[in-house]
Amino acid sequence: MKLTGLQIFKYLPGGKKEPESNCKECGCPTCMAFGMKLAKGDMSIDKCPHITDELRQLFESSSQPQQEEITFGPAENPVKVGNETVMYRHDKKFVNPTCIAVRLDSSDADFEAKLEKIKNYAVDRVGETLKIDAVALFNTDDTFLQKAEIIAENEIPLILAGENIEEEILKKYNAPTIVSGATVDELIKNSQAALDKGIKNIVLNVSKLSAENLIENLTRIRKAAIEDKFRPLGFPVITFHREVQGFSSDPVEQGILGSVLVCKYSNIIVLDELDEAIAYALLTLRQNIYTDPEKPLQIEPGVYQVGEVDENSPVFVTTNFALTYFSVFSEIEASNVSSYLIITPSDGMSVLTAWSADKLNGEIIAKTIKESNIDKLVNHRRLIIPGYVSVLKEEIQDELPDWEVVIGTNEAVDIVDFLMDYQKKYKVLSS
Ligand code: SF4
Repeated sequence: MKLTGLQIFKYLPGGKKEPESNCKECGCPTCMAFGMKLAKGDMSIDKCPHITDELRQLFESSSQPQQEEITFGPAENPVKVGNETVMYRHDKKFVNPTCIAVRLDSSDADFEAKLEKIKNYAVDRVGETLKIDAVALFNTDDTFLQKAEIIAENEIPLILAGENIEEEILKKYNAPTIVSGATVDELIKNSQAALDKGIKNIVLNVSKLSAENLIENLTRIRKAAIEDKFRPLGFPVITFHREVQGFSSDPVEQGILGSVLVCKYSNIIVLDELDEAIAYALLTLRQNIYTDPEKPLQIEPGVYQVGEVDENSPVFVTTNFALTYFSVFSEIEASNVSSYLIITPSDGMSVLTAWSADKLNGEIIAKTIKESNIDKLVNHRRLIIPGYVSVLKEEIQDELPDWEVVIGTNEAVDIVDFLMDYQKKYKVLSS
C-alpha cells in the first residue's frame, strides 16, 4: 500500500521534531506540506536533503506497483494488461480488462482466412465495440517470422509463443516475454531468473493447469502480487486454453474455462480458435467485470431518436442505465418502427431498481416529458412506459392529464412484438 502524507511526515524532521524541521529547502513551507505532496506524487523524494535511508526504503517499496502494467503491440493499437491493485472487484475497480487473444499456428493451412476472421470480428454492446485484442502466434514451422510480419502489418498486437523465439524478435514486435513454469514454485524460480537478466515485460504462465488446480494456482499468484508485493509474481498472467487439462474442446466447456479465467485471475486468455459465441460471452463478461462498481454505466437523460422519426412516431420512456438504454434502443431499431426514446435522470439505475429507490416515479417521468418538448415533436399524446412500472400509470396521468399512458413490455426483447400490435392499434407506419 502507498504511504499516506501523514505516515511520511512521521519520518521527516518535522515529525521527529529535529532541528531541520520546516527548513523549506524542498520548496515547501513545512515538512507536513512536503509529506502530502510526496504522497500525491507531486514532488520527488530527492527534494528534501534530510531524508533518512529508512524513509527512502519504505517509500520506494510502497511505491512499487503490486502488479506491473505491461503494454504490448503496435503504438497505434496497444494492449495494456496488469496493474491490478485489489483481489476483489467490490474493493475497488479492476484496472486493465483481460486481453482476449486467439491462437494461430504459423503452419496453419488456413492462416490467412483465420487471421481475416479475427481481424473482422466486432460486436457492439452498450455503446462499445468489442473486438479480439491480440493474436498469439505459435512458432510451428519456418514461416513463423513471415506470419508475424503479416499480423503486424494488420496492426494486431502480437504474442509470440513456442520454442526458440529470440529477444530481438520480441522487441521488434513489442511482444511480451512469456515466462513459464509447470508449477507456481517453478514459475517463481524462472521469473526471478528473468528479472535477474533485466527482463521487464514479463507475463507469467503456469503451463500445467487443470480444472482441479486452476483457481488455486491463479489465486495464489494474484495474492502474492497484491497482498505480499512478491516481485517474481508481480506480473500479468497469461493462460493458453489448450494447456489447461480437464476441459474438452466442447464450446460450452471452453466458454466455462474462459469465464473462470476472466474472473480469477488471468490477465491474458488465449483461445484455441475464434468461436464467435465463446468470444461474445467472454467479452460481455469482461465488460461487466471491468466496469467501476461505484459508477454505474449511464447515459445523458434527454430525447433520443431511433430511426427516421416523424410526428406519428411512438414515444417510449425508460431510465438512463446504459444497458437498459441500449437494450431498448436496439429492440426498437430491430422492429423498424421509428420511435422517440426519452431517458429519465435515474442515477444510472435499471427500471425496477430506480423505481424502488424512488428515482423513477410519476413526477420524474412527467418532469422529463415536459422538459423534453416532445409534445412539439409528435401529434399524438401516447407515452409508452416500461411494463415493470405499470403501477405508475395513474400517477403519471395525474401529472400529464393530456397524455395516455400505454403499458409497454417488461423485457426489451418483447418490444418488437409489442410494436407490431401498437402499429395495428394506432395505425403507425414502419420506417
Ligand atoms: Fe522538511 Fe522540506 Fe526541510 Fe525536508 S526540506 S526538512 S521536508 S521542510
